[in-house]
Amino acid sequence: MSQQDRIIQIEGKETAIHAEHPVEVVCLEHVEEAIDDYVNQYEVAPDTFPLEKVADPAVGHNCAVCGQPGAVVLLHVKGL
Ligand SMILES: [Zn+2]
Repeated sequence: MSQQDRIIQIEGKETAIHAEHPVEVVCLEHVEEAIDDYVNQYEVAPDTFPLEKVADPAVGHNCAVCGQPGAVVLLHVKGL
């Protein structure tokens, strides 16, 4: 594993993600805006998962935009 990998649990499976691309939590209202921002900033399309499928203590539970309870996690899975 290189230093560019980070492992998080998605749907109970250990999944390698790009450590240089952030894990962001947003609510349903802000998910499209967050995807657009992610693409603009990191030049990759993020993978999206329901928040309850992602088990990682470092992943927050509130929307990064508005602070309401989050629903969707944006991240960049390796090899997809
Ligand atoms: Zn929001």
